[in-house]
Amino acid sequence: MIQEYQLRVLPEVAANEQRLKDYLVHEKGLDARDITATRILKRSIDARQRTVFVNLKVRAYLNEMPREDEFEKTIYRSVDGKPQVVVVGAGPAGLFAALRLIELGLRPIVVERGKDVRERKKDLAAIGREQSVNPESNYSFGEGGAGAYSDGKLYTRSKKRGNTDKILNVFCRHGASTSILIDAHPHIGTDKLPRVIENMRNTILACGGEVHFETRMDALIIEKNEVKGIETNTGKTFLGPVILATGHSARDVYRWLAANRIEIECKGIAVGVRLEHPAALIDRIQYHSREGRGRYLPAAEYSFVSQVDGRGVYSFCMCPGGFIVPAASGPQQIVVNGMSPSNRGSRWSNSGMVVELRPEDLEDKRLNIHPTDADGSRSPDFSSQLAMMYFQENLERLCWQQGNMKQTAPAQRMDDFTRKKLSYDLPETSYAPGLVSSPLHFWMPPFIAERLSKGFQQFGRYSRGFLTNEAVMIGVETRTSAPVRIIRDKETLQHVRIKGLFPCGEGAGYAGGIVSAGIDGERCAEAVKAMLSSPASL
Ligand code: FAD
Repeated sequence: MIQEYQLRVLPEVAANEQRLKDYLVHEKGLDARDITATRILKRSIDARQRTVFVNLKVRAYLNEMPREDEFEKTIYRSVDGKPQVVVVGAGPAGLFAALRLIELGLRPIVVERGKDVRERKKDLAAIGREQSVNPESNYSFGEGGAGAYSDGKLYTRSKKRGNTDKILNVFCRHGASTSILIDAHPHIGTDKLPRVIENMRNTILACGGEVHFETRMDALIIEKNEVKGIETNTGKTFLGPVILATGHSARDVYRWLAANRIEIECKGIAVGVRLEHPAALIDRIQYHSREGRGRYLPAAEYSFVSQVDGRGVYSFCMCPGGFIVPAASGPQQIVVNGMSPSNRGSRWSNSGMVVELRPEDLEDKRLNIHPTDADGSRSPDFSSQLAMMYFQENLERLCWQQGNMKQTAPAQRMDDFTRKKLSYDLPETSYAPGLVSSPLHFWMPPFIAERLSKGFQQFGRYSRGFLTNEAVMIGVETRTSAPVRIIRDKETLQHVRIKGLFPCGEGAGYAGGIVSAGIDGERCAEAVKAMLSSPASL
């Protein structure tokens, strides 16, 4: 017999199967001899009160063993000789699109400008060591996309975005821990993600798909408003419908689309800094205990959101027990982001702290960075579809100048920032290339700096101890989402004018995060299948 229970237990009970069985015996009246196994189906931490509890949904097997699989196994069959579909980009959107194409009996040809996920790691290490960024292989470009060397958080803010469970099951099918199906806030961790990504690639190859690394799409081949395939920097062309999943850092792709008058539009983003606290301090605050997380709780998370002078100010992509990474994708840029290992065991906890920015805000003088083109040569063009991207580029370059024109990042202690004081010194940091003390309150656009400062003061009131000089803010976090939307039809998911072109994932403006990018990849694969199956295509 199987029985399921909703339990609210202390962390030490949730962490130990025997103690959980004892709990079921004492609290639910089960006979210990009947319990053959227990399985946790859902787990979340409730740290709202002084005593921290873990909410569990537990299945108890009484006089029988578990027979069901821990996750649903998707079947992938050979697609040799089937119609081919070009997938540009091997980030989460591209990889999930490719796997779904296989499920649907289509042959994916994946084209990725960066290196495979292992080779890529060497280029990431060089950023800290040599202070230089390889423009084709970095935290944004390469197999696994921006999601490979990340925290691997697998939850989306939106509940409407389709089948999250399917994405999590596919991750498990490729080697991720099944705990991601259980936890309310699942994450894989940067140490585990590369293996999972390699396994996904191996599925694609084993089924007869292709994966081409160090192959950059330089142009779409378009005839009479229909995509026929792509041209690449290697001289090879690949033919077929195109799922364009190039991410939000492929600025050359946006430029190409704009130059070729493919319909795109300017989109809002959020911009700010990474904020880093000692992990032990965040644990103490969030778990209301001087002992912090103790033996049984994970590194604590937080989430803040507020409205300041008409714009959202919020924490973004929090990495408990993580590292701040240099996420630039080209020269003369500083961009920061966060990642963490599966055990979230580093001494720091960080998150993006960002201010919402709308396209119309670019006309506000308090943004004081004019959206000129990257080389600064063009006059400001607020009406350009690329205006938000130009703004990002300019802010990243300004940050690089403030960081001594290397990957050393400008930084300021948190309380000093709210008091408009240069920091005399800086705390130890996880950011490997190093920090430079800098008056962020002075050179960041006032539109952003003033809202951030007010936001920090509010968050400090919500959460005592959060606003502190033990925390350091590091500039700048600009790649929170795409600055451009590639406009597609809501039903067919094809570009509004160009048939056979499927703008996909975060770069096209239809996802934000690993899971939603994966979901959008699957949807685009299904849309390609629908197009190829429609009578007009047969
Ligand atoms: P991307 O992942 O950006 O993939 C695009 C791919 O296209 C890249 O591999 C790129 O090399 C390739 N490409 C670009 N141009 C071309 C071209 N011309 N030809 C061929 N290939 C091309 N999200 C979460 O949900 N949880 C997290 O914990 C998390 N942590 C993050 C940590 C870091 C350091 C970073 C940078 C991002 C993080 N994100 C996280 C965001 C997440 O990674 C992205 O939302 C997600 O990867 C977007 O998926 P995508 O496939 O749409 O685009």
